[in-house]
Amino acid sequence: MSGRISAARVKAHHTYTVEEAAEAVNATPQTIRAWTNRGLHVLNETRPFLILGCALKTFIDDMKVKRKRPLKIGQFYCMRCKDPRGAAFGMASYHRKDTSGGVMVAFCEECEGQVRVNVKKADLPAWDEIYEIDGSDSRDP
Ligand SMILES: [Zn+2]
Repeated sequence: MSGRISAARVKAHHTYTVEEAAEAVNATPQTIRAWTNRGLHVLNETRPFLILGCALKTFIDDMKVKRKRPLKIGQFYCMRCKDPRGAAFGMASYHRKDTSGGVMVAFCEECEGQVRVNVKKADLPAWDEIYEIDGSDSRDP
């Protein structure tokens, strides 16, 4: 395996097996399986697993975006702007998922589309200093 992972040869409307997907993006089947565990959408629940080309492309693009531009505290990735953005009106709402953290939801300061980002509980005090944060379940437990 040489070269780097690329979605350039993936056809959006094709379905790929894990092996075919691996070959198309220049990765190993193990990598593709790891991606499915990390959220790459698989069409079916039994083998052979099939992956839709556009899901594969999106997953790789998202990964590149995240690697290139890590979000700082107070930033959201806006899907519409395709850029990290702050929250409009200095307001965000926090939705607790579990004891380790939750999701911060706000409106993009540029386009006012909804934006969200996963937030660790430990980072909440820092968010509090930037935004006025509401959310019914924001502080417990
Ligand atoms: Zn935006």
